[in-house]
Amino acid sequence: MSSILVIEDDASIRDALERGLAEHGHTVMTAATGVAGLEAVLGEHPDLVLLDLGLPDVDGLTVIGMIRAAGSVPIIVTTARDDDPTMVRTLDSGADDYVVKPFRLDQVTARIRAVMRRTTRAASAEPVRVGELVIHEPSRTASLAGVELVLARREFDLLLALATRAGEVVSKRTLLAEVWHQADGGSERTVDVHLSWLRRKLGETAAAPRYLESVRGVGVRMVDPTA
Ligand code: CA
Repeated sequence: MSSILVIEDDASIRDALERGLAEHGHTVMTAATGVAGLEAVLGEHPDLVLLDLGLPDVDGLTVIGMIRAAGSVPIIVTTARDDDPTMVRTLDSGADDYVVKPFRLDQVTARIRAVMRRTTRAASAEPVRVGELVIHEPSRTASLAGVELVLARREFDLLLALATRAGEVVSKRTLLAEVWHQADGGSERTVDVHLSWLRRKLGETAAAPRYLESVRGVGVRMVDPTA
């Protein structure tokens, strides 16, 4: 498990995160202001920072910039603002991911797992391989039997989310949360549509699957058809 720094000025959210993340086995540190948070980043070297974008002393984007200037610790932003331009700016400024308030604890822990998996893998720069499928996350490229796949952004994210859990059944709800950032209110139909596009690009169909196996009523599993 990881050491997580929670930078959050709302005491009730901060306490809930501290308690909840500790129950998930994480070591949790907290800070109530941007300045205290920066000091904790520099002094405590957390594995991941959960950063509230709306802090009383320093603007969230500025905090991200200052953390980035100090190092590459993964940052997940928590924010009440879910409009696209804000999120694009947040991610452009160096945050790794975001969750929109109000959130449930399991949404936060899912994002923490995804970001930790991604950053650990990115550091090793090792491609993800399943059978003849090779996915290289830093360059966002994927190939099947040596032939490069032309994938839209969501298709790549979906492929990666499934490939990093090859052999596991992944629920559409989990995929909505990880790929589309919509744990609630998202339509599983969105996942179905992208899965069918992805299947076509992988040269398979739902009726004759190779890599993408539907598990009725549960979700989808990536398998190695060459195994
Ligand atoms: Ca706040």
